[in-house]
Amino acid sequence: MKFRNFKMVDFVVYGRGSFDQLDEILAPHRKAGIPMIFLVDHFFEKKALASRVPLRGKDKIIFADVAFEPKTVYVDKIAAELKNEFGQVCGIIGIGGGSAMDLAKAVSLMMTNPGSSADYQGWDLVKHAGVYKAGIPTLSGTGAEVSRTTVLTGPAKKLGMNSDFTPFNQILLDPELTANAPVNQRFYTGMDCYIHCIESLRGTYLNEFSKSYGEKALQLCQKVFLQKREWDDESDDALMMASYAGGMSIAYSQVGVAHAVSYGLSYLLGTKHGVGNCIVFDKLEEYYPDGVHEFKKMVEKNKVDIPQHITKGLSDEQFDTMINVSLGMKPLWENALGKDWEKRMTREKLRKLFERL
Ligand code: NAD
Ligand code: ZN
Repeated sequence: MKFRNFKMVDFVVYGRGSFDQLDEILAPHRKAGIPMIFLVDHFFEKKALASRVPLRGKDKIIFADVAFEPKTVYVDKIAAELKNEFGQVCGIIGIGGGSAMDLAKAVSLMMTNPGSSADYQGWDLVKHAGVYKAGIPTLSGTGAEVSRTTVLTGPAKKLGMNSDFTPFNQILLDPELTANAPVNQRFYTGMDCYIHCIESLRGTYLNEFSKSYGEKALQLCQKVFLQKREWDDESDDALMMASYAGGMSIAYSQVGVAHAVSYGLSYLLGTKHGVGNCIVFDKLEEYYPDGVHEFKKMVEKNKVDIPQHITKGLSDEQFDTMINVSLGMKPLWENALGKDWEKRMTREKLRKLFERL
């Protein structure tokens, strides 16, 4: 048995209004004449948050286009433009949802590693530490703030740059930044966390480390999506910590069926991670009966829509593509169904599941 030696984020600050401390936090990482780059979710263009970014000297804000989940070509383009314009930068600060944070991690790594980010999609392929990087979530749920990966769609695959160089040097968790996120988006991203918890806690890889974080994150999700009468500041506070703990839980275990199937959807149809997981989880009563039952209650209570029939009319070839991508996620299946998962999840069975989505 080989145990994972998990590389964690170096520094964490948590609290309402902690965004105002950013200037002070970044100060020791600045170098004279070299800019700090703020990669900010395009949602915040012309919004108050953008004017609160502590710009100094040659610092620059780049508004990240997150209409689609991050692609390797986009990462390469931003890194190449920064090298062209400035030669070097002293840090990349990602402000936004999982997409903006993943972009920031990847661009930081591509400032010091040669070639294309597509060359590093996989496990432990990154050779050099990136430049200083910080993550500041404005949506809670993905756990991208704590993970050792950055999920990228490349020319050949959708796969992260998983490495010990990938985690942020600093994260700043300010729940105020998630206030006013649209109800559907907040729910989809929040459910990513809920699903992380269920898949981790019901998985065969479970251990006390993952369990302790997973149980806490689950409890916080239940509080905000089921028990509270209405959404308030306390909900934002709780969901931000749920995201953190859920991310810590899967870091030391694995996700499961919903993620494996949702990767297939997103590869073929471009379905975004949060909503894709919801579409799949909604149909997984056979694998996670209690979780799916509770999920349906959350959907009802929060009055959100889970899209239906999104695979209607797809060709055999398209179903095959999704099945191939999904079955390629071996550790996820093994965590969910055990070592003999291939006997339990056949191509035919998976096809039937995809047809129900
Ligand atoms: P997102 O980052 O894709 O953003 C979704 C939408 O919400 C965007 O339109 C964005 O502009 C908007 N948005 C962000 N903050 C907002 C706010 N405060 N108010 C209003 N709108 C806001 O969504 P997400 O669910 O946070 O992240 C999904 C991404 O994270 C995917 O690309 C997925 O691959 C990635 N991911 C990464 C990991 C990891 O470990 N690295 C884990 C899970 C998911
Ligand atoms: Zn997820």
